[in-house]
Amino acid sequence: MKSKKKDIRALSKAQLRDFFVKNGDKAFRGNQVYEWLWNKSLHTFEAMTNISKETREMLEENFVINHIKVDSMQKSNDGTIKNGIKLHDGLVVESVLIPTEKRTTACVSSQVGCSLDCKFCATARLKRMRNLNPDEIYDQVVVIDKQSRLYHNKKLTNIVFMGMGEPLMNYKNVLKSIEMITSPEGLGMSSKRITVSTSGVPKMIKKMADEEVKFNLAVSLHSAIDEVRTSIMPFNTNFPLKDLKESLEYWYAKTKRAITYEYVVWDGINDRKEDIKALVDFCKYVPCKVNLIEYNPIDDGEFQQASNAAINNYISNLEMHDITVNVRRSRGKDIDAACGQLANKS
Ligand code: SAH
Repeated sequence: MKSKKKDIRALSKAQLRDFFVKNGDKAFRGNQVYEWLWNKSLHTFEAMTNISKETREMLEENFVINHIKVDSMQKSNDGTIKNGIKLHDGLVVESVLIPTEKRTTACVSSQVGCSLDCKFCATARLKRMRNLNPDEIYDQVVVIDKQSRLYHNKKLTNIVFMGMGEPLMNYKNVLKSIEMITSPEGLGMSSKRITVSTSGVPKMIKKMADEEVKFNLAVSLHSAIDEVRTSIMPFNTNFPLKDLKESLEYWYAKTKRAITYEYVVWDGINDRKEDIKALVDFCKYVPCKVNLIEYNPIDDGEFQQASNAAINNYISNLEMHDITVNVRRSRGKDIDAACGQLANKS
């Protein structure tokens, strides 16, 4: 039978304190339990050793602690680890640990499936099944941090919201998860080391700017020409480049933080001179850098990575205009853990 008990981590600290007061205990008890739940990531009430037995039993009667489970784990030759993560309701998302010399990065999912329809992305084919809760995003970071310490002997340094899903279509929960990841009551990580990657939802970018968030913003641009962008990212019809541009200007005016554009160059799609020119022009709107991402094939050969000559053309043109450009090599490709491959074959 499905449990009707409420997930205790859906409660804010204030709500938890209230709960204890209403049950004739001290508000302070709420702080203690909150710390066990988040900072210590406990999965059972029983393990809360500074809480009396009666209180633990009372919690047990009222709540559950939903938590994720590593369902499968694949290790790549390059040290990348891809996890299949089972949620409390049996659905599965993926989270990836990406180690490099200088840092270890967790790539986390924000939705089961995705609400957007990018033609080149494996996750898009799943459609959106549901949003992840804040604790489900938080727990992915906890799991990856443990793996980083265990297999690479160092703690996690960075987090990117580049796994499954569109973070800005699950805005509230993503923000709440970041609040807990950065809070001393949670993991105490720095927001400067967190990047939220979006395909570009103008209204939400403005909202983030208004809320003065402290993390970094990456935008999956892939084309600065509406017609081309709509053909590969159909939702661009509703969120055209003009609106995206305006929201990014707003973001920069409010936060003074540069934006990263993610960009894949495909053969016959965005490898023409005018594509490059459009990108160079787009880059003039706000301070930014461009990450050219290697294309990770997802199946039928509809999309092919452009030639090295075409990519070099992009690089030289961007550099000529003093735009910083990095070429991002894929990690974990042999285990389908690279960008856009999550959900491929699973
Ligand atoms: N929805 C968010 C985050 C998830 S996708 C976003 O769109 O940014 C993370 C990154 O992988 C995005 O830049 C996306 O465009 C890119 N991507 C998707 N499929 C890809 C593929 N097959 N090869 C390379 N990059 C891909």
